[in-house]
Amino acid sequence: MKVIVLGGGVVGVTTAYQLQKDGHDVVLVDRQPVVAGETSWGNAGMVAPGHSFVWSSPKAPLTLLKSLVLKDQALRFKFSADPKLYSWSWLFLLECTSEKARRNTLLKHRLAAYSQSVLQDVLREEDVNYDRNDRGILYFHRSQEALDRGVAQMKLLESDGQEIKVLDRNQVVALDPSLATAKDGIVGAIHCPTDETGDPAKFTRALANKIEARGGQILTQTTIQDFDIAGDEVVGIHTDQGRITGDAYVLALGSYSPILAGKIGIRLPIYPVKGYSLTVPIEDHRHPPNVAAVDEHNLVAFSRFGDRIRVTATAEFAGYDTSHKPADFAFMKRVTQELYPDGGNYAEAEMWAGLRPMTPNNLPFLGRKKYRNFFLNTGHGHIGWTMSHGSARITADLVSGRTPAIPMEGLTA
Ligand SMILES: Cc1cc2nc3c(=O)[nH]c(=O)nc-3n(C[C@H](O)[C@H](O)[C@H](O)COP(=O)(O)OP(=O)(O)OC[C@H]3O[C@@H](n4cnc5c(N)ncnc54)[C@H](O)[C@@H]3O)c2cc1C
Repeated sequence: MKVIVLGGGVVGVTTAYQLQKDGHDVVLVDRQPVVAGETSWGNAGMVAPGHSFVWSSPKAPLTLLKSLVLKDQALRFKFSADPKLYSWSWLFLLECTSEKARRNTLLKHRLAAYSQSVLQDVLREEDVNYDRNDRGILYFHRSQEALDRGVAQMKLLESDGQEIKVLDRNQVVALDPSLATAKDGIVGAIHCPTDETGDPAKFTRALANKIEARGGQILTQTTIQDFDIAGDEVVGIHTDQGRITGDAYVLALGSYSPILAGKIGIRLPIYPVKGYSLTVPIEDHRHPPNVAAVDEHNLVAFSRFGDRIRVTATAEFAGYDTSHKPADFAFMKRVTQELYPDGGNYAEAEMWAGLRPMTPNNLPFLGRKKYRNFFLNTGHGHIGWTMSHGSARITADLVSGRTPAIPMEGLTA
């Protein structure tokens, strides 16, 4: 079959890879000059089933309300004229019961863990250098009360097979001596030894090269504008470079999926939630992070990609605006410098902002939708790199008419 994959972020490229592996001819279409040119470029690179907790939890409504009045650094919600923000927020609030949060977190953890196993299969077969670090992730806390709450919360993921270790501050520093100067500000951490990190853009681009080398087409600088429909089938897509046709189509446009899907009568509640990142060159600095970490008090994440540190923070509801200014990064930079004072050349940090494609329950939309040959693989929110490999494998199975390895419960639009 000839399959057209719409979107060349990590989700689209991993999908094209799995489809090609199954013997399909693949054509991937993206508007950027290179794949992973949007959200899949600047994220924290955490492959983190241990971070599967959904944002739509019972404490979320109060956090959202507070963000309207307080100048909160982690969450920024502003009123806007966009009606989609309010319809999405309403659906999000409906997911915020403790029962739904528990169910959605477990479904997400199942997909994330499966996805990590698919990533390992890919790495067994392919030689991909993407600055992988498999020393786990430290989720650290700054008060005993917060650590105890974190440990209690983690029991849910532990019940689903997540390995965790609870460390006191001495054990944290023993694991990553670069945190020595910040030791007194840390009470302890939950270490998920099987979580890992790696540069998602490097990975995605390397995989796209392999797809091309095996005869797949990667069409960049090609903007998708519309679809051709005949009866219950998609029969082609219109792009600014002409019409492209195939036997099946996979929608993987991240935050832009609802815009295109809306043109053919598919309503997808996906809203862009903006995040910021800094990429810090380490140069000759002696104490960069050795183990990826999340400062759970300040909600700032740190990963080490070879000779760079990636720092990410903030969830902001600002529509499709990806602009940024130095002030947006001041807080995360200060937190990083306090934790890793000799970590890197902070003056030369590269600034970036991107859009998380969030669904109300934080689970992606997979599977066939409305048309016989039209498949969704989109809405991966805040851990799309983590869930991409499994979502790609599931999508390839569905396109080929096979039953996926994990149940589809909660994963359809
Ligand atoms: C600050 C931040 C930190 C994050 N940290 C992590 C993390 O540590 N771990 C993790 O797992 N996830 C993380 N994420 C989430 C992760 O980055 C996303 O879930 C993931 O990148 C989504 O991938 P995608 O392929 O769906 O979307 P994208 O990467 O946005 O890809 C969509 C593609 O569609 C293309 N496109 C859009 N419209 C058109 C059109 N009309 N025509 C042609 N092409 C089009 C775009 O060019 C783009 O390449 C983070 C996100 C942010 C913002």
